[in-house]
Amino acid sequence: MRARTDDTAGSTIFARRALLTDGWATNVRLTVTGGVLGEIAGDARPVDGDLECGIVLPGLCNAHSHAFQRALVGHTESRAAHATDTFWTWRTLMYRLAAALDAELLEAVAAQVYAEMVACGYTSVVEFHYLLGGNTAATSAAVFADALLGAAEQSGIRLIYVPVLYERGDFDEPALNDAQARFALPLDGYLGHYENVRDRLPEPHRIGLGAHSLRAVSPAALREVGEISAREDVPVHLHIAEQQREVDACLATLGARPVEWLLDNLHVDERWTLVHATHIDSDEVSQLAASGATVCACPTTEGNLGDGFFPLREFLTNGGRLAIGSDSHVTINPFEELRWLEYGQRLLSGQRNVAALVDRHTGASLYRRALAGGARAAGRDDGQLRPGAPADLIVLDDSDPLFVGHSDATLLDALVFSGRPPPIERVLVAGRWCVEQGVHAHADTIAANYRRAVAGASQCLQPGAGGTP
Ligand SMILES: [Zn+2]
Repeated sequence: MRARTDDTAGSTIFARRALLTDGWATNVRLTVTGGVLGEIAGDARPVDGDLECGIVLPGLCNAHSHAFQRALVGHTESRAAHATDTFWTWRTLMYRLAAALDAELLEAVAAQVYAEMVACGYTSVVEFHYLLGGNTAATSAAVFADALLGAAEQSGIRLIYVPVLYERGDFDEPALNDAQARFALPLDGYLGHYENVRDRLPEPHRIGLGAHSLRAVSPAALREVGEISAREDVPVHLHIAEQQREVDACLATLGARPVEWLLDNLHVDERWTLVHATHIDSDEVSQLAASGATVCACPTTEGNLGDGFFPLREFLTNGGRLAIGSDSHVTINPFEELRWLEYGQRLLSGQRNVAALVDRHTGASLYRRALAGGARAAGRDDGQLRPGAPADLIVLDDSDPLFVGHSDATLLDALVFSGRPPPIERVLVAGRWCVEQGVHAHADTIAANYRRAVAGASQCLQPGAGGTP
């Protein structure tokens, strides 16, 4: 694995405005040493050698990613005459792409995805990686993990690598079909892979645990994964209730709805992130919020796949924790995820500013919630800029027309609801500038690799190409 070589140890940033733990502060000097923040002082003056800039925000965690699916974007937006297209037909094409992946293609796609993430303001990513069942030198779990780490290093993003257990075809189907076999490792092999990667991860990356879903993992194995998460104090991630069909199947086989079953049968706490808690009833909402678990919503992917609406207002009213993820990467823009999260609720309820509870400002409320929930999903306490915290931040151009006429109160509302690309000038991850003057440091090389690798692989997504449903 490649080491990071260009940390900007000992630099100082002077921000005319910065979002700190207590809210907005002006004329802020932030010291960065060895990848973490040192002293942070407000009402300061710039000193020779400071990097002077406009607006500084803590970077967000993208709490749910399947990097390889970036190559699928735009290939799934048509349907055969008289056919109904659903999540399940989309999955057929996704399986074709998964079957075509080798380590070189995975690294090229993931590097492009991660570079796009960093340029848009995500400074860390939880890679929910279930392609663990390859058995060749180009597809083994270890080689794929190295490919994702290589992509993280190229892009500069902070990676939380979450290998994902995948054991069976469905609740009542122990056998895997041909495509799903690519995802499967027995529990022993899965845990061996987790330990192997855990013990050799370079800074600043971290590891977590994952189980694909209740339909793809046995209760006994999920219980063991949960116990290891508690013992090792690492985050654990799980798809939970994305589609009504899996809720119905869960009721039929386990006698309970997915969130209901999980909370009744396992010790779910703040280490857990439940992805796509879309189809949950009121009892599940309140109990899930009380558990301390984080819900990761992926609004643009959930919209693209026709998943449904997460009961956001009810969950937040109950004190629930929220993170966001770009999941299939049909969109890579955290502000757009937050905007669509709110818009879905408005369309459903006929009301406005649904996510604004005590904070009153919807954009600010959503950003702060995604910051805190994303940090939890990554295994951190919070995502704030404070001494000792990781030096992960984004710098926005405060002269951009987007901000004209806005005060502290509405700055984040303007960012979330503008619908335009955020005016990001710079992005710092672990003390390293990954984006400067609005451009990713390695954008050209990463894009060239992506073009070369994906051009051949996308043949499998053309109409008439074979595949296993
Ligand atoms: Zn997912």
